[in-house]
Amino acid sequence: MSGMTENARCLIIGSGPAGYTAAIYAARADLKPVVYEGLQPGGQLTITTDVDNYPGYPEGIKGPVMMEEFRKQAERFGTDVRFGLVTKVDFSVRPFRVEADDGKVILAETVIIATGASAKWLGLESENHFRGMGVSACATCDGFFYRGQDVAIVGGGDTAAEEATYLAKLCKKVYLIHRRDSMRASKAMQHKVFNTPNIEMIMDSIPVEVVGDESGVTGLIVKNLKDQTESKLDVTGFFVAIGHSPNSEIFRGQVEMNEAGYIETIPGSTRTSIEGVFACGDVQDHYYRQAVTAAGTGCMAAIEAERYLSS
Ligand code: NAP
Repeated sequence: MSGMTENARCLIIGSGPAGYTAAIYAARADLKPVVYEGLQPGGQLTITTDVDNYPGYPEGIKGPVMMEEFRKQAERFGTDVRFGLVTKVDFSVRPFRVEADDGKVILAETVIIATGASAKWLGLESENHFRGMGVSACATCDGFFYRGQDVAIVGGGDTAAEEATYLAKLCKKVYLIHRRDSMRASKAMQHKVFNTPNIEMIMDSIPVEVVGDESGVTGLIVKNLKDQTESKLDVTGFFVAIGHSPNSEIFRGQVEMNEAGYIETIPGSTRTSIEGVFACGDVQDHYYRQAVTAAGTGCMAAIEAERYLSS
């Protein structure tokens, strides 16, 4: 075997809570897992600030610190964690053939896909500038920091509706901004939104600029698409809820996925349409999308990989 080709019993692609948890379990099961961390080691949690809803951290923990601890725990049991990107997979051969951008070809007996998802952003320069300083893509994670304050959220789907009602329980006022005159959220969710007194709908409008200073967000400029007028909302938090994209492009045509690109798993398991390939975390979950649920499915994937190898 050439120096650029290696064998692995368990290859884990991705390094958020799902990937690292899979690594901890696979390493302890003596599968000597190799992890390719991807472009954003630690995943989405590395772009959040405080994580207050992960059990075991009563005082909360910074997302990047938590991911660093997950990685160290995986390494403690012998996981080979590599900074690098998997560029190509072939699940039609056994062992599975996986290429990485360090030039290595890994021949893997099992593969655990944990590449996660990425929140979609509007693409405003100011949105990017204030990310983590008042701009967030996760109300469940960050809403708590805006208790008693006025916030805005953009989007017209179920996520925006759900997050707006969640925020309304914590915040004084929630402006829900949507680019059309009707929401795409389910009727039941819309009903909740319309019946929550402290949610104000701003339809036919888009955010055009987040304003603030060194302490964070102080307002949001919104443009009405019908009459082109702009107005400023005095808010301290701005939530973007315009959808997520699973990071599954390299697996297209290799495993079954739904229309949106989420990898299909057999209910109650992390098994994909290919025996020996498992998927965990947000790349297969558009519903819960929490660090703790991702970690849970990472654990499941490693246990299933271990049982598959010993069967
Ligand atoms: P989604 O259904 O794709 O909705 C995204 C929303 O963002 C749409 O209203 C869209 O506007 C708007 N949007 C997209 N790009 C935009 C941009 N650049 N500027 C302004 N607005 C923009 O995404 P989602 O709400 O995250 O839901 C994803 C899936 O998860 C859906 O199938 C949903 O039903 C499901 N989900 C279910 C639940 C639940 O059942 N409890 C909860 C959350 C999510 P347009 O409407 O104009 O396209």
